[in-house]
Amino acid sequence: MTTLSKEAIIEGLKKIVPGDRIVSEGQALKESSVDRFRKYESICGVWTQPIPAAIVYANSTEEIAKILTFANENKINVVPRNGASATEGGLETVVENSIVLDGSNMKKIIKIDPVNMQATCECGVSLQELDDQCRAMGLTTGHSPQSKPLAQMGGLVATRSTGQFSTLYGGIEDMVIGLEAVFPGGQITRIKNIPRRAAGPDIRHVVIGNEGTLCYITEVTVKLFPYYPDNNEFMGYVLDSMKLGFEILREVMVAGYKPSIARLYDPEDGAYHFSHFANNRCVLIFMSEGPKPIAEATATAIKEIVAKHPECEAVDPMYIQRWFEHLNWDPAKVAEEREEIAQTQNIGHTTEVSIVWSEIAGLYEAVMKRVRAEVPDLTMLGGHSSHSYMNGTNIYFMYYYNLVDIKPEEEISKYHMPIKSIIVEETIKRGGSMCHHHGVGKHRSHWIKEEYGSSYYILETLKQSFDPNGIMNKGSIFPVK
Ligand SMILES: Cc1cc2nc3c(=O)[nH]c(=O)nc-3n(C[C@H](O)[C@H](O)[C@H](O)COP(=O)(O)OP(=O)(O)OC[C@H]3O[C@@H](n4cnc5c(N)ncnc54)[C@H](O)[C@@H]3O)c2cc1C
Repeated sequence: MTTLSKEAIIEGLKKIVPGDRIVSEGQALKESSVDRFRKYESICGVWTQPIPAAIVYANSTEEIAKILTFANENKINVVPRNGASATEGGLETVVENSIVLDGSNMKKIIKIDPVNMQATCECGVSLQELDDQCRAMGLTTGHSPQSKPLAQMGGLVATRSTGQFSTLYGGIEDMVIGLEAVFPGGQITRIKNIPRRAAGPDIRHVVIGNEGTLCYITEVTVKLFPYYPDNNEFMGYVLDSMKLGFEILREVMVAGYKPSIARLYDPEDGAYHFSHFANNRCVLIFMSEGPKPIAEATATAIKEIVAKHPECEAVDPMYIQRWFEHLNWDPAKVAEEREEIAQTQNIGHTTEVSIVWSEIAGLYEAVMKRVRAEVPDLTMLGGHSSHSYMNGTNIYFMYYYNLVDIKPEEEISKYHMPIKSIIVEETIKRGGSMCHHHGVGKHRSHWIKEEYGSSYYILETLKQSFDPNGIMNKGSIFPVK
C-alpha cells in the first residue's frame, strides 16, 4: 500500500478540502478504525486495528473524485463511510494510513417527484429524514430497516440493505432507479432514472452492494409509493413449532400474497420482544398494507391460511402494533446498549443468512444444536425469519453471551467468530447465502469464494477492473491476502 507518511497524506488532502474538514487526531479517529463488530473493544477503549491517517468530510461529488484520484495515485486505502451503523467490520481500517472518506455532510434532498414517483438525494441523507419528508406528502420510500434513524442513503445502497416491509416493497435493490458513483480513478458515472432497461446488463447492480470496494456512491434515486398508514392491519399468533411456522410463511408467499411484514420468532427470540404473551412459544406476525381493498384482501387471505392450522392461537393485534412502533434503533438506544454491555459484561450480536424453503427448518435446527454444544457462556440463542420470498426466506440468528475470563480483544475469537462460523458453514453447506442483508464486511470475506463458487470469477474481475490498485476498502468482501 502507500509509502506516503501520515503527514504527507494530510498535506495532500488539504490541497483538496479545507483543514477544518480533516480530522487527524483524537478519539474520533480511533473510533473510526472500527464499527459495531468490535463494539466491545471500543467500549473498553482497546484499539486493535491500525488507526487511520485521517477522516475527511467531503461536501461534493467533485471533492470525492479528487480525493479518490489522490488516493489512487498514491495507493492509499480509502474506507467510504456514511451513517456508520455497519455491523460486519465494513468500516474497519485494516491497513496503516487509511483515509476514512465520510459523506455525511452531503445531506441534500435534491427532489421529491410525486408525478414520476421518485426521490433523488445525496448519499448523506438520513433515511429517516427522507421518509419523513415523503410521508408528509402522502408518499413513502417503503424502506424501513431497524437502523432507519442511523443509516444514510449511500450506506444503505452500498450494503444491499433491506427493511421491515421488504415482502411488499422489496430490498433496496428493488427500489434504486438510478444513481451517481465515483470510481477510484476519479471517474464520475451516472446511471439514469428510467422505469426499465434492456440495453445490456443492469449495471446498477455493480454498484448496489459493493460495500465501498469498487466505488463511492454519491447520489441515489429511489422509487416512491403512496403511503396509506390508516389501512395497516396487524396479525399475530403463537404456536409451538418453528417448522410449522416456516410452512405457514411459505404457504402465504407461494399463494401470491404480499403482506408488508411476515415474520416468525422462535421462543428465545420471541421472549425478548413478546414476553408479555409469548409464554415460551414461537410468534408469527403479519402486517398487510396498501390501498384499502388490497390491504383487506391480503389480511383476509392470511387469516384463512393460518386458520387451516389449529395449532396457531391468535393474539391481540394491538400487541403486534406496539411491538412494531418501538422496533427501530436511534443513537440513544445505541448509547444505552453500550452502557449495559459495560455494566453487565453480557453482549449480543447477530448473523443473517438466507436459504430455500426446503432447507430452512433443517438449517435452523442444525445451527441451534451446534452453537449450544460448541460455544460456552451463552445466555441467549434464538432466531427469526423476517424477509420471505417466493422460493425461500431468511433467518436472523441472535446470540448473547457472558464475557468470562477474557481480554477485550479475545471476545471475537472466543465467542463471536465461532458462532458466526457455525452459521455460515451450515448455510453454505446447504446451498444458502451466508449474507442476507448486513453485507460481507471484513468478517465473512473468508468464505467469499465458497459463497460464489464458479461465479467468483465475475466478482473478482470486477474488482481487478475497477480498482486495480486495490485502494477501495481493503479487506471488505475480498479477503486480504
Ligand atoms: C441497530 C441496527 C439495526 C440494523 N438493522 C438493519 C436492517 O433492518 N436492515 C439492514 O439491511 N441493515 C440493518 N443494519 C445494518 C446497517 O444499518 C446497514 O448495513 C446500513 O445499510 C448501513 O448504512 P450506513 O449509512 O450506516 O453505512 P456505513 O455503516 O457508513 O457503511 C456501511 C458499508 O458501506 C460502505 N459505504 C458507506 N457509504 C458508502 C458510499 N457512499 N459509497 C460506497 N460505500 C459506502 C462502507 O464502507 C461500509 O462497508 C442495522 C444496523 C444496526 C446498528
